[in-house]
Amino acid sequence: LILAYDPARRLARMQVGMERSLVNARMIYELLDQQPQQGDATGAVEARITTGEVRFNNVSFRYAADAPVLKELSFTAAAGKVTAIVGASGAGKSTLVALLQRFYDVEAGSIEVDGQDISRLTKHSLRSSIAYVSQGPYLFEGTIRDNIRYGRLSATDAEIEWAAKQAAADEFIRQQPQGYDTPVGENGVTLSGGQRQRVSIARAIVRQAPILLLDEATSALDNEAEARVQEALTHVMEGRTTIVIAHRLSTVVNADHIIVLEEGRLVEEGTHALLMADPHSVYARFHRVQGKKGLGLVDDAKPIQTP
Ligand code: ADP
Ligand code: MG
Repeated sequence: LILAYDPARRLARMQVGMERSLVNARMIYELLDQQPQQGDATGAVEARITTGEVRFNNVSFRYAADAPVLKELSFTAAAGKVTAIVGASGAGKSTLVALLQRFYDVEAGSIEVDGQDISRLTKHSLRSSIAYVSQGPYLFEGTIRDNIRYGRLSATDAEIEWAAKQAAADEFIRQQPQGYDTPVGENGVTLSGGQRQRVSIARAIVRQAPILLLDEATSALDNEAEARVQEALTHVMEGRTTIVIAHRLSTVVNADHIIVLEEGRLVEEGTHALLMADPHSVYARFHRVQGKKGLGLVDDAKPIQTP
């Protein structure tokens, strides 16, 4: 079944979903990019993105006249590798990810993708090379197929089903009353948290973008759901430059590189082993405080008082 896509109807339907959800409406609209040239500087050029290496060079940023949120932040997310961002609530993790997508522009410094300053690129071409998996709630009004296709409107049904298989979602989708054409949302079926996450991961896979931005959910899943989501994530991260706002201990431990943010500053970076080698590191403290509960609760982390 080939669906006819009427953009206005599609957006109207999505808006219904967004009003009931916490999805940042502006981000979703801009990702779909109905008006590609909107907001581009004169002389903006198309991005030529191959490996997707991301580099922050002394980036500072503040919202309006507020206090600085990011302070002279420099790091490289190596091409094809997983870079995990760790830090307490308010440290600036989501802001960093928003800047990379040009939802805001840096105040000082620059962000480069494959050596190209993103402020000189068209937003459309930049965002076409990025897949973003938000913390949730992941789904819009519409069918499951629609929900995956939002990743790339030109995706064929075969590509959608392939993406769902990669995301460990194909099996449960086929078990729904109308398979891929089953509506979700207010008037549709209710999927579990782990199922919704896998549909959103399939959406990211179908986008076929070299850069993946992942805002991990903090909510606990049961063990089986967790394992299936992990399997899906492994597929979507494969060969992509991944920047993950990490809450799951397993993601952090297995990342190629870890960036520790504190009040908008990079305070530590390295591998898990390197950061744990210093018992006084901020990172080691996170682990002591949160231990096996994972890093999702670092927001409230207090250093352990030594007697
Ligand atoms: P994190 O994702 O690490 O929790 P954020 O990047 O969301 O941190 O927020 C960093 C700081 O910026 C916080 O103090 C937050 O209140 C502030 N902030 C985030 N978004 C906005 C916004 N749209 N307008 C003004 N301040 C914001
Ligand atoms: Mg955040």
